[in-house]
Formats: sequence, structure tokens, C-alpha cells
Amino acid sequence: MKIENNTVVGVNYALEVEGQPVDASGDTPLTYLHGHGMMIPGFEKQLEGLVEGDKYDFTVPAAEGYGELNPEAIVDLDKAIFLVDGNMSTEVFAGAQLQLTNQDGQPMVGVVQAISDDKVTMDFNHQLAGKELHFAGDIANLRAATEEEITHGHVHGPEGHQH
Ligand code: ZN
Repeated sequence: MKIENNTVVGVNYALEVEGQPVDASGDTPLTYLHGHGMMIPGFEKQLEGLVEGDKYDFTVPAAEGYGELNPEAIVDLDKAIFLVDGNMSTEVFAGAQLQLTNQDGQPMVGVVQAISDDKVTMDFNHQLAGKELHFAGDIANLRAATEEEITHGHVHGPEGHQH
């Protein structure tokens, strides 16, 4: 069989960005349900049609990866937000990754870019936004998804639905 929508794909991969290793599947292949938007679009597109044992090596442009950099996701926040008992939190420094909560109560992860007298500039873009992604690896195993997996839109383990 080959990779198409509703194939459960076990894939070994290594991701490099600008020549640096960023992520890899390690000892166990990553397993995902193809065609349900679980992986970035450019990755699924490139794996389409491959069979078990195939090796691959390709580059995904930012637009088909984590998206282009959004300048509106770089924001100046009031420094008062970061004060603890009147002092700047020691967790806040240029380059620090912080999780804040937005007005809807959703967690948002951003990186501190700069700190001025009264503002903290934070970048809430995905850290891989605007980057070309280089993937290499091989297809470890393939099987057809069950009806239940297709309905749920995710892969089930040997004991069925786990979450
Ligand atoms: Zn399920």
C-alpha cells in the first residue's frame, strides 16, 4: 500500500533548520493519520504516494510549514505585567521563553525580544515560522486506519481509544 488519506503512517524523521538539528523521531517512529491535518501541510504532501521502506529527503517552504513570520505577533507589553512584588521577575530576560495567558484564557508561548524602561517586547510567532524545514528519513510501516480512527481523526493504540 502507499500513503494516501486515512493511512496510518509510521515514519522516521529528522528535522533540520538552517543546517541545525531541531527534532527527530528517535528510537520509535512517529505514527500519525495521514490526511487529517495532524502534520504540517508540506510534510504530508511530500509523503503522499510513498511506500514502506522508501527513503525521503525534502525541504518544506515556510508557507507550507509553520507559516510566514507575522509582524503583528510581535507585541509590546506593559512591564507591570511582569513585576513580582514590585520587582522584575527573574524569568524575564531577552531570549527567555514565557507562557502567558491571553484574554480568552488560552496559553500563548512567546520569546522575550527586548526590555525597555516600561515595555517588554515579545514575539508570539511559532519559533519555526518563516523558516524552511528540511526533513529526511524513511517510511517505517503503513496500515489502513480503522473506521473508528477515521471518525475520530487520530490514531488509536493497540488497546483502542486512550484519550
Ligand atoms: Zn479516538
